[in-house]
Amino acid sequence: MSHIIHRSLAGTPPVAAAAQGIWITDANGKRYLDACGGAAVSCLGHGHPDVLAALHAQIDKLAYAHTGFFTSDAAEGLAKHLAAHAPGDLTHCYFVSGGSEAIETALKLARQYFVELGEPERTTFIARRQSYHGNTLGALAVGGNEWRRRQFAPLLMDVVRVSACNEYRDRAADESQEQYTARLLNELEQAILDAGPQTIIGFVAETVVGATSGAIPPTPGYLAGVRRLCDKYGILYIADEVMCGMGRTGTLYAFEQDGVVPDIVAMAKGLGGGYQPIGAVIASDKVLAPLRTGSGLFQHGHTYICHPTAAAAALAVQQVIQRDNLLVQVQERGAQLAALLREALGDNPFVGDIRGRGLFMGVELVRDRETKTPFDPALKLHVAIKRHCLARGLMVYPMGGTLDGRQGDHVLLAPPFIISPQQTEQVVTHLTAAIREETEKAA
Ligand code: PLP
Repeated sequence: MSHIIHRSLAGTPPVAAAAQGIWITDANGKRYLDACGGAAVSCLGHGHPDVLAALHAQIDKLAYAHTGFFTSDAAEGLAKHLAAHAPGDLTHCYFVSGGSEAIETALKLARQYFVELGEPERTTFIARRQSYHGNTLGALAVGGNEWRRRQFAPLLMDVVRVSACNEYRDRAADESQEQYTARLLNELEQAILDAGPQTIIGFVAETVVGATSGAIPPTPGYLAGVRRLCDKYGILYIADEVMCGMGRTGTLYAFEQDGVVPDIVAMAKGLGGGYQPIGAVIASDKVLAPLRTGSGLFQHGHTYICHPTAAAAALAVQQVIQRDNLLVQVQERGAQLAALLREALGDNPFVGDIRGRGLFMGVELVRDRETKTPFDPALKLHVAIKRHCLARGLMVYPMGGTLDGRQGDHVLLAPPFIISPQQTEQVVTHLTAAIREETEKAA
């Protein structure tokens, strides 16, 4: 019996024994093609020699030094790299150990910004339904995934919630994309006015929604509208790019494709590519200025902030992405993946939607394509597809049946940026077979 509290208490998962490139091998010698990067983490694949060399060098030199006493070349180098490659005046970094901590940091930084400005009455965040921002209490409070929130709700802060931008599910048949986008922005503006703009700290949203909904990008103009409303009412725009950031969508930050620059950005998974646990916040000059001229202190901190070994790994990952032009690779393989998915599954009666950006693609499954009726959640179709794919040696990231009772099962693909054209074909072949067989069984 395992002494670990695993994600499911029903059993112990297979032991991952080794990994190289996009393959993971379990203790029985079975190989799995990692088409989801774990959870959109593994951007360079496993065992990248440059990252391992940087990690070894850092551990040999300095594994850890507490930030109450020191900074490190590794953390300073990573911050310099991120500042040099971020748009606008996003130049101030804070390093933590993962995505939830990055979101907590973003929320606290935003709150302190207004306290330092002499506006302590700002206590409210606006966030969206169908969102996931992490599992710590602050992150869970802004997240809209009811299944994850339900039993902890009494402990969570109140958040004003607005609709997510989910064109496939929510755009009315007689509505243009522009009208749908305008409706969402009107809803957001009304929510701001109802709550009182002077009480609101910030608007928090994933740029491309990941775990809850399967790679849903915003409609054109949606985030530009969000930016305009935040500016109009003096509210901070906080982008959660924990899953979709750091190149996954074909640009370093997904919001670059929407022509906006947020005030605060949270990132994690692809930042360190899984080589070390690391997350970060990058914030604008505007956000840092009142803290500098005010208390001179960000009232936050964890034992492992700015961890030198984690920073060294992340810096190496980010340098490889730049050096090897991997953003172009993401764009090309992403276009191939999208085309293959559409070719193989576009006519499938149980595939409602295929969407995403770059190497961040989602497939939503429906029992009835016309009415978009999901499969019965009790069937746990997404679990069946995951199992089927695993039997074929393919890792995909499924979710299902948890959102407002409306949305059905979906599969998320987020392979490492180094995936080859042949491996991309392999992913689609196996996934298509799994979807065909399992949807037919469920129908
Ligand atoms: N934000 C988003 C968009 C995520 O997808 C996740 C994790 O899946 C998180 C935050 C939380 O990150 P972590 O699991 O590293 O705490």
